[in-house]
Amino acid sequence: MNDSLSADARRSSPVPVAIALHALTKRYVGGSTAVDSINLSIAVGSYCCLLGPSGCGKSTTLRMMAGHESVTSGTILLEGREITHLPAAARGTAMMFQSFALFPHLSALDNVAFSLKMKGVDKSERKTRAKDLLDRVAMGHLAERKPAELSGGQQQRVALARALITQPKVLLLDEPLSALDPFLRIQMRAELRRWQKELCLTFIHVTHSQEEAMALADTMVVMNHGIIEQVGSPNEVYNRPVNEFVAKFMGGHNVIDTASGKIAVRNDQMQIAPASDDTARSNSVNSLPATITDVEYQGTYVLLGLEAASKTAVSVMLPEAAFASRPYVTGESVKLWWTSAHTLQPTRIAA
Ligand code: ADP
Ligand code: MG
Repeated sequence: MNDSLSADARRSSPVPVAIALHALTKRYVGGSTAVDSINLSIAVGSYCCLLGPSGCGKSTTLRMMAGHESVTSGTILLEGREITHLPAAARGTAMMFQSFALFPHLSALDNVAFSLKMKGVDKSERKTRAKDLLDRVAMGHLAERKPAELSGGQQQRVALARALITQPKVLLLDEPLSALDPFLRIQMRAELRRWQKELCLTFIHVTHSQEEAMALADTMVVMNHGIIEQVGSPNEVYNRPVNEFVAKFMGGHNVIDTASGKIAVRNDQMQIAPASDDTARSNSVNSLPATITDVEYQGTYVLLGLEAASKTAVSVMLPEAAFASRPYVTGESVKLWWTSAHTLQPTRIAA
């Protein structure tokens, strides 16, 4: 983002913060702690994904930012201004809901103008402002259509325009793509990413999909049981998971107990050889006997499931050509090995 700046300029002008959370906590009445004293800074103009398994506190965190859920303790700042207890409409945030949640009986234009109507803005001004926004997302020519007369992509753009009509500084999105079919979901996420860059807005997007978060995010926030496990770019989180939970949740990692502690090895960097093969001898420190339990074709790759000692499940992703030249079968005894360069540091992976 700051590639054109010198190192000195970068040091003296840190990227401004859009949203900052300080010790933010939510305890539901009669329930457990849904969000447990989290601290987070999200840079202005970034695409941030809150990622984690179901029930880890993602939506609660987002709803507290939006003002749709009260805060038990801690603070929320938007561009330095405290908004912790402000009503939703006074915060400078806007929310985009699952499957866009457009009003089916209203035209695209009236959907976009709706919140201005609630605010008492007069009819001609709200029509003008709604039309301007629809033009901005290349939907002006379809302003009179009802949602059912629009494609999925067009509906998403109307939903975006509707969220932007209040001129928010931050757009909050709670699983906006989760109810779409897989093909549309991939198209829509590319569009979301494009609009976010074009509008230079901060997006905070909740998802339980690692793939979606990696495709979209500048910054990924991995949550688990109401806390933040790791914050980083998709590359950092995938290649340097800080603990066993993140490694396992991100997928594609084998977490293995060795004599020197717990390590992780990506499944596309794990090597496999027949049990009788000598290839792994020079790497004997990093080798492991295992038995093939599953062989799954995935197009360009074959995913092998294996069981090592102590019932440790391991997976290996083999390029199709490598598998074709030496196919493995269920029940076969093999040797797994990996280089030290592909071993994630035990100190970092310690759970
Ligand atoms: P996520 O969006 O990550 O799936 P949520 O933020 O919805 O998780 O929920 C976090 C935890 O808080 C869960 O254990 C959930 O059951 C609980 N929870 C969520 N909403 C409420 C509520 N309104 N009342 C009580 N408990 C809730
Ligand atoms: Mg949720």
